[in-house]
Amino acid sequence: MYENNIKPAQFSRLDSITGEFWVSGMVSHIGKDPYFRWHDSGDLQGLYHLEKIAAVCHATPDTMHWLPTREYGVIKAFIAKHGKNSIPKNLIVRLSAMYPDKPVQIPASLQNLPGITASNVHTKTPIGSPCKAPSQNGACLDCRECWSDSVISY
Ligand code: SF4
Repeated sequence: MYENNIKPAQFSRLDSITGEFWVSGMVSHIGKDPYFRWHDSGDLQGLYHLEKIAAVCHATPDTMHWLPTREYGVIKAFIAKHGKNSIPKNLIVRLSAMYPDKPVQIPASLQNLPGITASNVHTKTPIGSPCKAPSQNGACLDCRECWSDSVISY
């Protein structure tokens, strides 16, 4: 009953980031998962979106979150509005590389801030800590480095 009726309704609400139930729907969806990755596809839609993700992180203190993004400007706007220590302690924001083999240049206003790091993409030589998945048949297995503040090279 619950699976068939209530959950699909919650998930349909998740489609609308601007909807009033999005934060509570995501908190319910994440449940007690110890690790959560945002955005298998897509990216931040704006400052309001990151503010809602931060609210979800605050409401799921036992979950570690990581968020890949190319929307550096949204992160800058969030820090400018909320302060240098405003990324929730259980969230890692990873500024994603725009091009392979070109390391991310973290904007000056975001350098050395807690919860903000980068990820690069390499074709030959890793630019950072190399992701283990390619040597593990594409699986993370017990690696959780994406949820750390290391710069990772995929
Ligand atoms: S293997 Fe580790 S570094 Fe690679 S995607 Fe998985 S958690 Fe991230």
